[in-house]
Amino acid sequence: ASMRENRIEKTKTVCTYCGVGCSFDVWTKDRQVLKVEPQSEAPANGISTCVKGKFGWEFVNSEERLTKPLIREGDAFREAEWEEAYDLIVNKFKEEKEKNGPDSLAFITSSKCTNEDSYVMQKLSRAVIGTNNVDNCSRYCQSPATMGLWRTVGYGGDSGSITDIEKAELVIITGSNTAEAHPVLATRVKRSQKLHGQKVIVADLRKHEMADRADRFVQPKAGSDLVWISAVTKYIIDQGWHDSEFLEEHVNGIDEYMESLAPYTLDYAEEVTGLTKEEMIEIATSIHEAETTCFLWAMGITQHGGGSDTSTAISNLMLVTGNYMKPGAGTYPLRGHNNVQGASDFGSMPDRFPGYEKVHDDAVRERYEKGWGVDLPAEPGLNNHEMVEAIHDGNLNMMYLKGEEMGIVDSNANYVQEALEKLDFFVVQDIFFSKTAEFADVVLPASPSFEKEGTFTNTERRFQRLYQVFDPLGDSKPDWKIIMEIANRLGGDWNFEHPSDIMDEAASLAPMFAGVSYDRLEGYDSLQWPVAEDGTDTPLLFKDRFPFPDGKAKLFPVEWTKPLEMGEEYDLHVNNGRMLEHFHEGNLTYKSEGITKKTPSVFLEVSPELAEERGLEDGTVVRLTSPYGNVKVPCLVTDRVKGKELYLPMNDSGEGAINYLTSSHADKDTDTPAYKEVSAKMEVLEPK
Ligand code: SF4
Repeated sequence: ASMRENRIEKTKTVCTYCGVGCSFDVWTKDRQVLKVEPQSEAPANGISTCVKGKFGWEFVNSEERLTKPLIREGDAFREAEWEEAYDLIVNKFKEEKEKNGPDSLAFITSSKCTNEDSYVMQKLSRAVIGTNNVDNCSRYCQSPATMGLWRTVGYGGDSGSITDIEKAELVIITGSNTAEAHPVLATRVKRSQKLHGQKVIVADLRKHEMADRADRFVQPKAGSDLVWISAVTKYIIDQGWHDSEFLEEHVNGIDEYMESLAPYTLDYAEEVTGLTKEEMIEIATSIHEAETTCFLWAMGITQHGGGSDTSTAISNLMLVTGNYMKPGAGTYPLRGHNNVQGASDFGSMPDRFPGYEKVHDDAVRERYEKGWGVDLPAEPGLNNHEMVEAIHDGNLNMMYLKGEEMGIVDSNANYVQEALEKLDFFVVQDIFFSKTAEFADVVLPASPSFEKEGTFTNTERRFQRLYQVFDPLGDSKPDWKIIMEIANRLGGDWNFEHPSDIMDEAASLAPMFAGVSYDRLEGYDSLQWPVAEDGTDTPLLFKDRFPFPDGKAKLFPVEWTKPLEMGEEYDLHVNNGRMLEHFHEGNLTYKSEGITKKTPSVFLEVSPELAEERGLEDGTVVRLTSPYGNVKVPCLVTDRVKGKELYLPMNDSGEGAINYLTSSHADKDTDTPAYKEVSAKMEVLEPK
């Protein structure tokens, strides 16, 4: 081969954007990405990717990458060597722990990082500092779905594989902009609809692409989903269409649950949700007639004051109709980030060890104490939401946060930024100097997925390996290495030489991952948790029992929580979510020219009716104001939204960032912010 060919390399990686978990080969020459080539053996995506997986990689070589540690001096930062940064961090952490105890420190891991990065972050927090104050951004998105599933079926994960969704006779999609947020998964539904006559029902505020393609599209009022879902369940039971055999054999709590449904008549649901009785009867009939139903949902359900309860109602409906324990059926909360599933799986939660075992369970804690050779705290720690409150209250003084744009993506951004400002000492580890980094005392340069080895776990509980494509840029380092350096300077005795050592340790301690090892994840090989010691994995999550002592699931009664009202003055509801081309606040995608050329900025979707009433056209710049702050954005007139309903993609970290409008109101069971419960008033800025 010629010299030139020698420099062309092909490396298998996993997409760093969404939770679908597409994997593919990336062809490179030096530090240049030549092309992304999906392979048929890729389990989640086969030969498909979306625009982000294909073109969203220029950020890796962006001139804005952090390549040196930065240390604050007054209002500015100066470059430093790693040793100086480590010394400063270690001394500050030691001092704080001695003075105010370990619980005055907190740790936040990233859903962009690998399982191994998250594992070491929670180990640093628990084993070295001695606090359970550790969390990750699933607190911002799918914790309520996990809660709803824990309550009913015991595991907080998708019931089957992405390919199982293709097998369903009926797919119901609620509160999920699937075609834009999980594009390749949506492609599978579109294909099945076309080739196998799969029926698709979409319930959503907004007429997004999947709504357009659905066999039936219904538009419930904002925040009313629990009511129509419960009414459909009640109607099914009243008709005698429930699966008595399945309930008898596999489910507890039936009588109490049936009684709890009494208020959810079709009349009541019609009044609350705005759906007609006929629409609800049609949904119930479709479920009854289908052999298998998959229920897909996302942030439109979870980011509400009653997000956990609505997720519970979905699982109740699937239990009542016997839609578990078979391929093509069950519950599919669609995970947002590439590794938001894994960040929680690997123990970055204030009350759970890796594999979701509870920190206050003495037997479990003793196992970790033995494994790590230290005493561990038994009291659950603070979650992200509680951390912000604790800082405001003066009970939390130092924070170490990696790969998370907390100052923009947490709700009520002004309030969160005020908290970050109050911290005595704040370490931010990222690949770019983010908005959040502006509040830091030390900023550490990390490496993105292309510059490290590790594993991600996608929405279908699937472990996949990523291999290193490039060397870390400048002085940047993989997150796990940075965390290990800090842990060892604080008295830890960690000897991980490769992420596979970290996985081996996690597998030896967490029964859920007992059989996970890098050997079993070579190339495109993958495993879906739980994984038994002999390497047997679990594509279909529930085969003949649910993970409760008697093997039975539980029907869990829930009540509707009315959405937050911000007062009459704030007359427009601001729905929010993703758009196809950009990812979250956009710190990666806006630095990838292949993407910004197509979509340079966010826009506010307004309905033709509202445009007429307020004199808005495409490009009219408006200011939206809520009781918590304001944003400035250009309008796009579209019939995807109707009436006084607006849609603002979350993909902006400047004047258009949605979280300057959102409040601190949160799901009552998990503290997940109620991002979807936001109203605002509008002022036209230009042209007037
Ligand atoms: Fe990446 Fe998700 Fe697109 Fe797949 S669908 S290429 S995982 S962003």
